[in-house]
Amino acid sequence: MKRVLIANRGEIAIRVAKALNELGHVSVGIWTDNEPEAAHLEYCKEWVHLQGSSNRETYLNVPKILELIKKYKIDAVHPGYGFLSENAEFSRTLEKNGVTFIGPNTKAIEAMGDKAISKQWAEKAGVPVVPGSTGEVPTVAEAIKLCNSIGYPVLLKAVAGGGGKGMRPCYSEADVKINFEAVQREALSSFGNAGLLVEKYVQNPHHIEVQILADKKGNVYHLFERECSIQRRHQKIIEEAPSPFIGNDEALRKNICETAVKLAQAVGYDSAGTVEFIMGDDRKFYFLEMNTRIQVEHPITEEITGVDLVANMIKSAFGDALDFKSQSDITIKGHAIECRICAEDPISMLPAPGKIAGFETTFPQGIRFDHCLYQNFEITADFDPMIGKLIARGLTREVAIRKTLNALDGLLIDGLKTNIPLLKVIVAEEAFRGGHYTTHYIASVKPQEKVSVTESEVKLMEKVASMEMGAL
Ligand code: ADP
Ligand code: ADP
Ligand code: MG
Repeated sequence: MKRVLIANRGEIAIRVAKALNELGHVSVGIWTDNEPEAAHLEYCKEWVHLQGSSNRETYLNVPKILELIKKYKIDAVHPGYGFLSENAEFSRTLEKNGVTFIGPNTKAIEAMGDKAISKQWAEKAGVPVVPGSTGEVPTVAEAIKLCNSIGYPVLLKAVAGGGGKGMRPCYSEADVKINFEAVQREALSSFGNAGLLVEKYVQNPHHIEVQILADKKGNVYHLFERECSIQRRHQKIIEEAPSPFIGNDEALRKNICETAVKLAQAVGYDSAGTVEFIMGDDRKFYFLEMNTRIQVEHPITEEITGVDLVANMIKSAFGDALDFKSQSDITIKGHAIECRICAEDPISMLPAPGKIAGFETTFPQGIRFDHCLYQNFEITADFDPMIGKLIARGLTREVAIRKTLNALDGLLIDGLKTNIPLLKVIVAEEAFRGGHYTTHYIASVKPQEKVSVTESEVKLMEKVASMEMGAL
């Protein structure tokens, strides 16, 4: 039995607390000055106060977190996603203090944390990478030379980027000239690292990623793929497993999954992680990046494989045996779809902060709702706009789609704008239903133009508008 600090908030803190409680460990939750009633605290066995309000003062503050660890005799830390989850400095500091980091070893984080360095590892391991620079490109002159040789369009990408931020497509030499320094500046201010790389901007691409789970004895397993091509601003909003684009092509599925395992083995990976690929319409795939943490969309993999990824990630960190013994123990049953529920305007898709007046759920069988909602929860610009994840499981993709639509109808969140009306349009729409979509789906189908504002949503918007008026 270990005392485990959850260095995160929101739905992922709840997910981690559930796994810790189930395994018999002591889940220790954090509360901060601006979220004293956070939903995750109800699931934790103990609470500790991290003074401050901003992320910098709290969830990103390594010295303060270390103080809590010492004061409350913490044995291990689960970082969730975002915040310190991919911070090698943090995992090394824990290691030095004899505290277990529930994630991969520091070397694996370092190898995969930087997009340029991880591409070099992938090349060495014989994993195909997107054509482009194999390291950082320091000057605009070098970027132009390289872009002209690989051909347009290209993508300028921050080596330390994440969450879809820090990348810009360029369609000509003039574009590269205009954007290079701007992306460098953005990267420096958002990620504290101005480094850029150049990549071929793959056309009509599919984002397909492979879930990895490894133990500390050198065994690396995959839990098949997820398709995450429904995105806005290069960030996922709907994910599904298995990928409809791979479909019944078992040879391709085997190839991409085994390629991911090969890379994980090459870097000595030993936790849950995800290898992301971009796949063209020609079904050729290239390594994009590896996320050395639990991902937002991990539940769809849990739903189709029956493997509890968070519990097994914790077991792996403590050197305990995983729930399965060999790759052949892991099989796909059925289909799962996840919709990210965000406090966002459904038409502009921009964050729309506000306060939750109440919520109601009437779901069909087969629905999982991982969320951090509570009455009077105020989503400010400081918090991630994602407030929940609606996951539907069905024996077939058609069933999962039907259940998703039913569940979206049965999810009522009052008091602020959400992207639920947009999600309903997408899931009901022809290209999505047919499984024929790429990462350009939003730009080409424009589902936001079909968002209909129903009577109840009108009422809700009137209420929000009057609250905004009141605030003025
Ligand atoms: P996933 O890869 O799990 O699908 P996202 O890309 O949506 O996840 O990111 C998950 C969370 O982590 C989001 O809150 C996102 O803003 C945050 N995040 C991811 N990478 C970074 C990063 N490099 N810097 C800051 N925040 C990040
Ligand atoms: P992040 O760390 O922000 O998740 P990724 O490298 O995983 O960054 O890219 C995020 C998304 O941007 C991808 O899912 C894809 O839609 C798009 N993207 C990234 N690289 C390319 C590329 N070379 N060609 C086409 N699209 C890309
Ligand atoms: Mg990514």
